[in-house]
Amino acid sequence: MHAPLALHEDRLFPSDPGQRAIARRLHAEVRGLPIVSPHGHTDPRWFADDEPFADPATLLIVPDHYVYRMLYSQGVPLEALGVPRQDGTAVERDGRKIWRLFAQRWHLFRGTPTRMWFHHVLHEVFGVREALSDESADRIYDQLASCLARPEFRPRALFERFGIEVLATTESPLDPLVHHRKLRASGWKGRVITTFRPDPVVDPEFDGFAANVAKLGEITGEDTASWAGYLRALLKRRAFFASLGATATDHGHPSAATSDLGTAECARLFARALAGGASPADAERFRGQMLTEMARMSLEDGLVMQIHPGAYRNHNPAVHRLFGRDRGADVPMRTEYVHALKPLLDRFGNEPRLTVILFTLDESSYARELAPLAGHYPVLKLGPPWWFFDSPEGMRFFRERATETAGFYNTVGFNDDTRAFPSIPARHDVARRMDCAFLARLVAEHRLEEDEARELAVDLAYRLAKRAYRL
Ligand SMILES: [Zn+2]
Repeated sequence: MHAPLALHEDRLFPSDPGQRAIARRLHAEVRGLPIVSPHGHTDPRWFADDEPFADPATLLIVPDHYVYRMLYSQGVPLEALGVPRQDGTAVERDGRKIWRLFAQRWHLFRGTPTRMWFHHVLHEVFGVREALSDESADRIYDQLASCLARPEFRPRALFERFGIEVLATTESPLDPLVHHRKLRASGWKGRVITTFRPDPVVDPEFDGFAANVAKLGEITGEDTASWAGYLRALLKRRAFFASLGATATDHGHPSAATSDLGTAECARLFARALAGGASPADAERFRGQMLTEMARMSLEDGLVMQIHPGAYRNHNPAVHRLFGRDRGADVPMRTEYVHALKPLLDRFGNEPRLTVILFTLDESSYARELAPLAGHYPVLKLGPPWWFFDSPEGMRFFRERATETAGFYNTVGFNDDTRAFPSIPARHDVARRMDCAFLARLVAEHRLEEDEARELAVDLAYRLAKRAYRL
């Protein structure tokens, strides 16, 4: 007999029988709701081309930085996991070998959300019923590979089976959005939209900033060597993204700093940044100014702003040099919001037509800064626990620390924020269960009526995301 793989019906629910019973009833209301995925990093090419996924490792391991950062921390070289090198040096290409490496080390993921997501993917998406281990690795690999060869495991079929109502990807303003255009033209009814992520052209410290800005000029026919032409180019590009369904922008800055400088000062700073002469302080002021400019543009074109600050990106220089960005070497930093956001809020904080969704990698800011800010300013909403805190404990902590001051309705539902497409239902399942668990406690403590909790459960799982992202 092989060790079984099972998903417990009561996973993540409170262990207290009374609360658990309430959580079950609430969950019954939301478990079948469509998935709204307003922020994430899946590849639009998958849905545009609808080709079969290559193999289990290429789908589930190679692109998932949650998976390979843990393996790397335990001494597995990224080359052995098939992560491509910048210099073209050969890396492992044999999916089965990569899968075995992973399966032999599956115990490393005990207690992590990756393990919960992965179990859900194996069990629910691929019908696996035996536990992953060194011994079962090949059998499970074969099962997954034979699934992936079938039409019902192609990207569009999975999208439909997952019950995804809308899925947002994230692209650079320099991206021609060919896949999104192809999707639009294809007649497929699945709704996949883009998101405007301008970091490469608004961050003077981004690789190739000046060349990126020049390219922005070429694409838009604007003179991006001038401050005014640069702003016009950004506005044009935003309109292009909106024409392909974008309802939001996203900003991944090292801090939440905003600025509100005069035009002459902006032009001087911009010229310095283009010439490569911006100091770190200049770069910080410029990025901050660009958040304020983006807020102004959002008032015009209606795109919702998301700010994802506080990641120390590419912390490991050797990994950055060899493998490039987004390779699991990002680390959260302490993040300040109260002073940082003030210049932007002084200008736009009271605008009822603007929505700015704040995220954090600094859990200590929930109750002290973020919930009080979002509980006052009409423009501000709180994004769900992000990245390292997209986890059961992270979600519990967020609700416990933010709800009393911000309420539920200054939050925006869940974002799966993932590159790992097959794990999208797993991630929403965890979020829905954790919200039901939290609501069940409030009901059991007579702080909410159960009918209110039922309505809230649906809001948190579905309606708030649609409303906040204007979907
Ligand atoms: Zn993201």
